[in-house]
Amino acid sequence: MNTVEGSVEARVSHEVDRWLAWLPRWRPGTHRARVRLCQRCFGSPILAAAGLEVDVPHPVQHAFSMRMKGIIDLAVDDYTARNLPMLHREIRLAEERKARRPYRAGEGLDPEFLGLELDPEPVPDQPFLFTLTGLEADAAAEAAEPAPRPFTMDEKEALREEVRLADDFAKQLGRRICSELTHHRERIAVAVAEFVEPQIEDLLADLDRELDSPGWLG
Ligand SMILES: [Zn+2]
Repeated sequence: MNTVEGSVEARVSHEVDRWLAWLPRWRPGTHRARVRLCQRCFGSPILAAAGLEVDVPHPVQHAFSMRMKGIIDLAVDDYTARNLPMLHREIRLAEERKARRPYRAGEGLDPEFLGLELDPEPVPDQPFLFTLTGLEADAAAEAAEPAPRPFTMDEKEALREEVRLADDFAKQLGRRICSELTHHRERIAVAVAEFVEPQIEDLLADLDRELDSPGWLG
């Protein structure tokens, strides 16, 4: 635990460096604004600690949030592997099951293709080398495996305790990152003023010009 604790300062500093290196390349998107609030960013104490909670476009915030999340995820994985054997095993098994998930030809298609027949009508004497339906059947057969043995009450209790410990560890680390970020607020603010604010001002100026131009009224 000490090694992880001891390096929080360095990791935060490093991830702030990388975010600062990315920031000059950021451009305001032309895509639609998100409809739902981002669970990761909305009300994030980490963004507040970094001074990024207001007047900063979401993609800029999000890139920062994800970098800090990466620090937490890695540290929690490490802590779990060292200290929480049951949880570690369950996570590993879940990952293995996910990797063996059957291939489904109908998944991940654009809405206009959903529910359509995936294979063309077979033509007599011209068999296809393989069909998507056949691939799905092969994959499903490979993935069939015996159901895992259910947990005993004691095991469930022990696992719950390990989940609680992992959660505590993540929260504690989140608080350390927040306090660490106070040392970086200044350079974060300088970069936002240099690379983000002028672009927002340009956007607003463009919008003003469009509203003022006679063409806009038709
Ligand atoms: Zn976000």
